[in-house]
Amino acid sequence: MTSNRFDLRGKVAIVTGGNGGIGLGLAHGLADAGADIAVVGRNETKSAAAVADLKARGVKAISVATDVTDKEAVAAMIDRVVRELGRIDILINNAGMSIRKPPHELELDEWNKVIDTNLTSAFVCSKLAYPALKASGNGKVINIGSMMSIFGASFATAYAASKGGIVQYTRACANAWAPDNIQVNAILPGWIDTDLTRGARKQVSGLHERVLARTPAGRWGDIDDFAGIAVFLASAASNFVTGTAIPVDGGFSVMA
Ligand code: NDP
Repeated sequence: MTSNRFDLRGKVAIVTGGNGGIGLGLAHGLADAGADIAVVGRNETKSAAAVADLKARGVKAISVATDVTDKEAVAAMIDRVVRELGRIDILINNAGMSIRKPPHELELDEWNKVIDTNLTSAFVCSKLAYPALKASGNGKVINIGSMMSIFGASFATAYAASKGGIVQYTRACANAWAPDNIQVNAILPGWIDTDLTRGARKQVSGLHERVLARTPAGRWGDIDDFAGIAVFLASAASNFVTGTAIPVDGGFSVMA
């Protein structure tokens, strides 16, 4: 293997939540390395804009409107990607959301919504994509965790549980699917400037300043900070890397 170890031409990737934020940053990396992309999300206007952005990078891109908490919709999405793009080599489980309340105020339906969106969806998408990932011969699953996979926060009740779960789910799948040459890894983003955290900054007073003070890099992350790790974890460059959870956090997780 020579200089082509980061080459993704001929590969097909599904990116859930790929129509904006971190998912779009991950998709930028994959498209720039040559992968065709299926953008999965509910908001079709945002998805159409993301598809245009990705096609402008010279790859095929399609939008598959899907709620990842709906198992039948996910099954139809997987079928459509194989039908239209021919295969699945890379699955990025990125779709996520949060409901910010302390544990004693969070309702059961709110708990279920966060767990279903952030954790159960990764299980459903991975399980249903597995036959195609196995057929690929060098499948890659990338799950998106969080600093809440490591730390806790009073307002991140179900969110922290879901993101802790994502790391353990990643480790289990890495073990299960190593014989199929499928690598399964997690990315743990620090504080990144997206719609999700714009909401958090409105709800949690002083958050913006605390993030700047607490992040060694001295800035919020940008969505394109995720392009490089996406290419690494999706390509042959990471063929002996599995079950890991890699922070992309400007040093947040190592600041004492
Ligand atoms: P955004 O709110 O910008 O993006 C969330 C994405 O998830 C959207 O594309 C949204 O698309 C999709 N999504 C949400 N619910 C569903 C659903 N039920 N079905 C299909 N798609 C869904 O947030 P971020 O980019 O910030 O977050 C992306 C991931 O990164 C999440 O898992 C988040 O927890 C994680 N993360 C973010 C951090 C940050 O600082 N921003 C830090 C740590 C982790 P649509 O609305 O069209 O369905």
